[in-house]
Order: sequence, then C-alpha cells, then structure tokens
Amino acid sequence: MNKYNSALAGKDVQYQLHPYTDAILHQEVGPLIIERGEGVYVFDDQGKRYIEAMSGLWSVALGFSNQRLIEAAERQLRTLPFYHLFSHKSHSSSIELSEKLIELAPVPMSKVFLTNSGSEANDTVVKLIWYRNNAIGKPEKKKFISRRNAYHGITVASASLTGLPPNQRGFDVPLPGFYHVSCPHHYRYAQDGETEEQFADRLADELESVILSEGPETIAAFYGEPLMGAGGVIVPPRTYWEKVQAVCRKYDILIVADEVICGFGRTGNMFGCETFGITPDVMVVSKQLSSSYQPIAAVLVNDTVFEGIADQSHAFGTLGHGFTGTGHPVASAVALENLKIIEEERLVEYAAEMGDLMQAGLARFKSHPLVGEVRGHGLIAAVELVANRSTKAPLDVAGKLGKFLAGRAQEHGMITRAMGDSIAFCPPLISTQEEIQLVLDTFGRALDDTA
Ligand code: PLP
Repeated sequence: MNKYNSALAGKDVQYQLHPYTDAILHQEVGPLIIERGEGVYVFDDQGKRYIEAMSGLWSVALGFSNQRLIEAAERQLRTLPFYHLFSHKSHSSSIELSEKLIELAPVPMSKVFLTNSGSEANDTVVKLIWYRNNAIGKPEKKKFISRRNAYHGITVASASLTGLPPNQRGFDVPLPGFYHVSCPHHYRYAQDGETEEQFADRLADELESVILSEGPETIAAFYGEPLMGAGGVIVPPRTYWEKVQAVCRKYDILIVADEVICGFGRTGNMFGCETFGITPDVMVVSKQLSSSYQPIAAVLVNDTVFEGIADQSHAFGTLGHGFTGTGHPVASAVALENLKIIEEERLVEYAAEMGDLMQAGLARFKSHPLVGEVRGHGLIAAVELVANRSTKAPLDVAGKLGKFLAGRAQEHGMITRAMGDSIAFCPPLISTQEEIQLVLDTFGRALDDTA
C-alpha cells in the first residue's frame, strides 16, 4: 500500500496527468476515486455516498443510472458501433439527432454539425465563420469578441474565446484577433450607485466602442453564454442581451450563443436563449445533450451562415473540416434518447419548478455574514463568499474560502464546485424536492463549519 487510501489511487498519481488539477498537489493528496453512480448520487471506492450538486460537470441531466440511455447505447453498439459522415456517408442516429435539434431550436436553424466536445464545437464555429466570410467576399471580417470570465473551452480557438486567466496563462492564447469585453456581473463590476440597467447600457456602449475602434468591417461575431457558467454563474442584467444584440445587428456582426451549459432545461426553458431573449445566428450545445453518457456536441447554424459555407463548395469542393467522431452513432443515439426523455418526462418544466425551490432555499443564506451574493436562474446558481460584506473583499487569499467550503461539503457528502470564492450549484434535472433540500442542508452545514 502507499500513502493514499488504495493501490488504485497510487497508480492514478503515477500514471495520469489530470485536467484542471495542480500536478504537484495531486501527488500529495491523491484522487477521490468515484466508482459508481445511482440517481443523483455517486459513490467512492470506500463506499461513501455523495450527492452530486454539480451534475458531474454541469451535464448529467438524467442522473447517473438512466436505463434508457444505457439501452440506447447498447442497441446502437450492437447495430453499428461506428461509422463516419465523411464523403456523403451517413447513418440514422446522426440524421435523427440533427432533425431533433433543428426542431427544438428556439429560432429557425438550417444545419447541424456534430463534434465530440464543446471546445471542438467552438473551434468549429470560428473556422466555419472564417470560411463563410471568405466565401461572401468579406475576408477582413474575422475578429471575435467575447467576454472576460467567459468559458468556451480549451482548444486553441475556444481558449482564445475563453476569458479566464487560468485557461490562457502559460498557453500562448488568445490568438490575435480575439477580444474580450466586460463581464456582465453587476455585483462585482458595477460602479457605485449604478443600476442594473445603467450597467447594461455602459457595457453595450463599451462593446460598440471596441467595434468602432477595431472597425466594424473586421468583426465577425460576438460570442456569449446566455448565462455564464464556469465563470461564476453570472446572470446578466435584464436588459443586457437586448442592448448587446442591437449593437451587433447595427454592425452586421453575427451572434453566437454558447448553450453548452444552459441548453436543455438548465435555466428553466429548453434553451438559455429563450430565458434571456437571444436570437442567435449560431448555437453550440453539448453536456446535457447526452447527459454526458457519451461525448458529443453540436453546432447549429442558420441559413445566412450555411449559405456562405455552401457557396465555398463552388471554389473548393469539399469542406475540409470534420472529426473521426463527427456524428458518432453511439453518442448520437444516446443524445437522441436523452432528448426524448427530457421531452416525454417534461423535465424542462420540472426543472423550472425545482429551480424556484432551489433559488428560494439559497436566498435564505443571503443574510449570512460570509455570503456576498446569491445568484442564479432555474436549476443553476452560485453563492459568492466574502470575508467582508460591505467591501466585498475575499479572505487573505482569493479563492481560499471557496476551496475550504467545497472541501467541507465533500466531507459532509456533497460534491459542489468552487469557482474562486463562489460555490456553484447545478443539480441533475431529475432531482427531487428532498434531494434539493439535502443540497441546501449540506451547504448550510459546510457554511457553519466555515464561519
Ligand atoms: N462552452 C461552455 C459554456 C462550457 O461550459 C464548456 C465546458 O464546461 C465548454 C464550452 C467546453 O466544453 P468541453 O469541456 O466539452 O470541451
């Protein structure tokens, strides 16, 4: 045996380089090995149960043991475990999934391009928009604008869209041509006495001045999550999206909605675009698309974007972009079944109801001396911890309170996520009232330990 609590943990430290993990600290503390899942719970290799208040990575909408998803994967594996979509080939599960996504989309969309991950989907969007703008005779219209604190992934273009320093530090991104404007977080970034509406106006003006100083003819698209997830569950001011969209339309700038976290019920509607009144030209979905039982993501483009892409075929013939796993039959079959379940079981409406309950429960912590802000929409929320409520200052080291509280919650049998000093909540859409209550109670216990 080694200093960790199992031989397997020792092998993990020896052989794996973990994503989003401090490689040195990992050698000291070792991994928490999760062995199985059941409903909204996971169990570690010592048999301890945890309520998964983050749905894994904001994604396991149907919980960890949905039999229909397992059977859909098995059926597809037995019929056609793999085929691709290159060179005019196709197969039924990718066709049906694409049809379903076009049917569900909140605005008319034309075509679906499938990928393995959200990051790949966002890189695909960047490349397709560059390709399209070359086709329509606007080769100078290539720049992207996203927001500070945004999360769009970690491949080269998606990391350039991402606006979080840890995803860029040491990686030589962002690439040239990627710009970041202010994060729409009123609590943190509003000026003294500024209302939410004034704050939204200021941010729209800032966007317009960046567009004008770069030249509107050089800006291809504005990129945003309807509600920012990994950047801290940031709910924009009510008028923010309306104002930002008006600026984009004025200068012929495409709007890309990254629905990787918001999509399929998370904010209480099928899409975050519906919750926040967004009319995107391009949408990106993943995570709850398959409840993460299989890796899959999708890019949806409208006619305006597709027509330019199709036009390039006159010049180049083949569209030189695609992954071995594009439209993977097993991932597509699981995603299709997952979407059917969400519809049949009316999980979007149910999540809205459970979301109200969770938001009301979390709001009760607002008066706690360590709580600066409680925010969220539907079944996604964050509680921001501060050492001083009037100055909003963190403890001596930013992130220390968040890390400590997430650690205490884990000891009490709940997995959450600390994003700096904000604690995120994103429970599975199937969570019962009792399970939401358990999340709230466990958070309360961890907060008491922290005080
Ligand atoms: N976009 C958003 C909004 C995300 O939250 C994420 C992942 O958390 C991504 C893109 C990247 O997805 P992936 O991790 O599948 O590459």
